[in-house]
Amino acid sequence: MKFIGAHVSISGGAENAPENAEKIGARAFAMFTRNQRRWKSPPLSAQTITRFKKRCNHAGFDPKYILPHDSYLINLGHPEQEGLEKSRDAFFDEMQRCEQLGLQYLNFHPGSHLNKLAPEQCLDRIAQSIDLALEQTTGVAAVIENTAGQGTNLGYRFEHLARIIAQVTDSSRVGVCLDTCHLHGAGYDIMTKSACEKTMAEFDRVVGIGFLKAMHLNDSKKDFGSRVDRHESIGKGVLGMAPFDFIMNDARFDDMPLVLETPDDTLWEKEIRLLYDLIR
Ligand SMILES: [Zn+2]
Ligand SMILES: [Zn+2]
Repeated sequence: MKFIGAHVSISGGAENAPENAEKIGARAFAMFTRNQRRWKSPPLSAQTITRFKKRCNHAGFDPKYILPHDSYLINLGHPEQEGLEKSRDAFFDEMQRCEQLGLQYLNFHPGSHLNKLAPEQCLDRIAQSIDLALEQTTGVAAVIENTAGQGTNLGYRFEHLARIIAQVTDSSRVGVCLDTCHLHGAGYDIMTKSACEKTMAEFDRVVGIGFLKAMHLNDSKKDFGSRVDRHESIGKGVLGMAPFDFIMNDARFDDMPLVLETPDDTLWEKEIRLLYDLIR
């Protein structure tokens, strides 16, 4: 079964996310657990936690289909000690929030070398950062997202993801979220069914399909291999419907959160319906 949703707002509190997802006909959703533009946020209140769990339960959202996303400020491969420590502290805080909310995943972009660290060293540092967070928490898995490779962001090659995963001590608590817009930007062809098959075969060979825990479904404004990360609404960008048709009709994407991060939230309900209608 397919579980499609969107990255919904937590305006007014994390407890509002399940209702925002329910309103658009979602069976899955993504969310931030705090203000994603600040380094520090007040802890989740007992009331927020209770309400969040109750509302998820009521609306039928199993934690397996909820994909919290970390703050964009965090860089787990930061080349400088101060930035690295700040990032590790914030990531640990986010892991704890997920744990408190009864969630299973924390989705994040691996990190950036900022031209001050060799890419391999940066990837190794990211793996260490993940290990540190996993050691101090229980139950929450670190879900690494592939990137478009914009600027000095790593994670745009499957080899990057594989190198990180190979160094994480507990491989049962690390996974991958593939973003369709980022795949395209990074130069992985998903424009036709056969190209999708080839890209997924390469993912399986390099990373392993068992690590795939979630998908971000986004069309792209930018060309193939542009290394630029600009999302577009489904069917309105350069990707066309082929990659989405492929995902909706392939069992490898069953029973995991399939999440829209498309720019126009007024279209989400329609986009979710459009995606479900692709299922044959
Ligand atoms: Zn994404
Ligand atoms: Zn993106």
